[in-house]
Amino acid sequence: MIFYSTRDNKKTPYQPAEVIKMGLAPDGGLFVPDHIPSVSTRELISMSELKYEELAARILSLYLTDYTYDELLEDCSAAYSAKSFPDGACPLVCVGDNMYSLELWHGPTCAFKDMALQLMPRLLSRALVKCGEARKALVLVATSGDTGKAALEGYKNIDRLNIAVFFPSDGVSEIQKLQMQTQDGSNVHVAGLRGNFDDIQTAVKNIFADPVKTEELDRRGYFFSSANSINFGRLAPQIVYYFKAYLDLVKGGKVEVGESINICVPTGNFGNILAAYIAMLMGLPINKLICASNSNNILTDFLKSGRYDRNRGFHLTISPSMDILISSNLERLIYLVGGCEYTAKCMEELKNLGSYQVNEEILSKIQESFCGYYADEELTRATVKKYFEKFAYLLDTHTAVAFAALDKYLESTADNTPCVVASTASPYKFAADVYSSIFGTAPDEGTGALYSLSSRTNTEIPHPLKDLSSKKIRFDGITDTDHILDEIEALMK
Ligand SMILES: *Cc1c(COP(=O)(O)O)cnc(C)c1O
Repeated sequence: MIFYSTRDNKKTPYQPAEVIKMGLAPDGGLFVPDHIPSVSTRELISMSELKYEELAARILSLYLTDYTYDELLEDCSAAYSAKSFPDGACPLVCVGDNMYSLELWHGPTCAFKDMALQLMPRLLSRALVKCGEARKALVLVATSGDTGKAALEGYKNIDRLNIAVFFPSDGVSEIQKLQMQTQDGSNVHVAGLRGNFDDIQTAVKNIFADPVKTEELDRRGYFFSSANSINFGRLAPQIVYYFKAYLDLVKGGKVEVGESINICVPTGNFGNILAAYIAMLMGLPINKLICASNSNNILTDFLKSGRYDRNRGFHLTISPSMDILISSNLERLIYLVGGCEYTAKCMEELKNLGSYQVNEEILSKIQESFCGYYADEELTRATVKKYFEKFAYLLDTHTAVAFAALDKYLESTADNTPCVVASTASPYKFAADVYSSIFGTAPDEGTGALYSLSSRTNTEIPHPLKDLSSKKIRFDGITDTDHILDEIEALMK
C-alpha cells in the first residue's frame, strides 16, 4: 500500500512507515491510502472468532504493508493487553431496543483515545527503524485534557520516544490535572502553563515551525513529533472496533451477516466517525453514519448545506473534547468523495476565508452516508438524566450528545435499523457534570465527585480513577509559554 497527500495532484508516493513517522504531509495535507482495501463477506465471517488483537493486526496489515503481520500482532497484543484493558478492549452493551453502546473507554485513561494511543507509539517506534531514522522522537503535546493523558499512557517507556505534555493550568478539571501530574514513566514530562488552550497550542506550533530550534534538536539527536489525531497511525486502529461491534452483533444473533447497521459518533475532530466511514468503504454493512455535535455545531450545518463556515462563536461546553471549530479529518472525507484538486481548493478557501462550500454533487454523495444532529447544553444534560432513569444506563456528557442525536434521528426518520453508538468516555471522567445532570445539585468537590456519583448511582469507579487521590504528584510545575523549551531540557538528559 502506498499513501498520498490529500492535496497533491502529482501523487508523490509514501510508504506506510514514513506516513506514521511524518504525521502531516509536506504540503500541509493529510496522508491517505491509494485505495481502500475491501473485505468480502466470507472474510468478514472468518474474522468472527478472532481475539481483538488478532482482528486489529488483520485489519492493520491491509494498510501497513511494510510491517509484518507478526510485528503488528506483537504491538496489538501489547496495546490491548488485559493489564491495560481489564474488561476487554471495547464491550458492546445493549441499552434499549436496537440501540447499542460501544464502550471505548475501558483503557488506562477512561477515554476512547486510548484505543488509538495505546497502539500508535509502538507503530511509531518501529517506523523509526524501518525509515533508517537514527534520531529519537520528542513528542510535544498541547492538551485541553483528554489527549494529554492518553498520549502519556501510550508513549511512556517506549523505546526511542520521549513525550512532554503541556496543559492550561486553569483550564482542565481537577481530575484531569491529577491524572497528568501523577504520570509515571522514565521518558515523560508534564507542566501546567499560564494561558488558555489556544495560547499553548500556538506556542507549541511555533516551536515545531522554528528552524533554529529544530536544528539544535537535530544536533542533539532528536526530532519533533506530534501525537495529533491527523496521523494515519491514530486513524487506522479506530477502524478495527467498528468491525468488532458488527461481529459482536452477528455473534449475538442481533443481525444476520450482510444486514446493515447504523453508527452514531460524538464528533470533534472528525477522526472517529471517519474511521467508521472507512470501515463502510471496506465493505462493512453500514447504512447511515450519524454525526453528533454539541453547541459547536459546525458539522451539523455542513452536512445539511455543504457549507463549512468557522466564522462563528466558540462555545465552552460540558463536552469539552468536542469543542472544536476546525475538524481536521473532514479533509480526508472531502478527498475520498471529491479528489485531491477539489480538496486543495476547499482547504485554500478555509485558510483564506475561514469557509468553503462544496458543490451539489459532492454534498449529495456525502449525504448518502452521513447525516448530522446536535445537542445544546440543556438537551445534553436532559439526555444523561433520561438514559439513567429510563434505561439505568450512565452516559458521560460526550456520549450523551450522541444519544441525543440518535433520538432526533429516530424521531425524524423512523429508521429502526440497529444502531451502534460510539461511547467515548467513562461517565466518571466527567463525574461532576454527570452527577448534577441527574440529581440537579453539585456533588462533592474535586475527586469527591467520583464518590458522590458512585454512591448515588450504585456504579463502580473505574480503577485508573479510583487510585488517583493516593498517587504521588510528580509534576507540579506551572510556568509561562516562553519556558516550554527549558521544560523539555530535563527530558533530553
Ligand atoms: C476526542 C474525543 C471526542 C471527539 O473525537 P474525534 O475523533 O475528535 O471526532 C469525543 N469524545 C471524547 C470523550 C473525546 O475525548
